[in-house]
Amino acid sequence: MGRKKQAMWVRLMVLLANMGRCVYCDYAESQVIDHVIPLAANGADSWRNLVPACQACNLGKSDKGLLAWVAQLTYLDHARDSAAWPHAPKGLTWMRVQLDHAFDEVEARLGGVKAELDDEARRDWFFDRYWRLSKNDSVPFWRAYVGPKAAEARINGYPKPPPPPPRMRITRARLGQVFEPVPPDEAS
Ligand SMILES: [Zn+2]
Repeated sequence: MGRKKQAMWVRLMVLLANMGRCVYCDYAESQVIDHVIPLAANGADSWRNLVPACQACNLGKSDKGLLAWVAQLTYLDHARDSAAWPHAPKGLTWMRVQLDHAFDEVEARLGGVKAELDDEARRDWFFDRYWRLSKNDSVPFWRAYVGPKAAEARINGYPKPPPPPPRMRITRARLGQVFEPVPPDEAS
């Protein structure tokens, strides 16, 4: 399967969407990037098809598809702590309502993450600052470093980085050294 390793800035950009939480359970901190449409089902290997997920949801969902996974998640959720299902007389109807809610919630979160990743200012913010990060470094390390800055940038509307200082060169004048600005179009 032609899975390529995403650049670190792309991984951080995806992992820190949805406030850095898994888009499926909306509870655990995101740990991996998940393909919404699995690669096995010809899903694209681009950020448009990526969402933040926790390890458990990522493994649970695997290639079975989103709806089946949400159903299973909801089932496990309620089977764990509810005596109402499936033993009550209206257990199946009740479960059906829970499933509808769960689907709606996940769909809404997926839409939110998609809108977040579609935000060009946000994408630029990550790219401008972190495109140099090696894709082989530790994701948790960079996440701890980038996370707080990204949270701050979210509040401030993903400000552009300040322009680089103008390049100066030293020219020899008759009396000592003089700095003069280098024209921006001149190669270094
Ligand atoms: Zn999860």
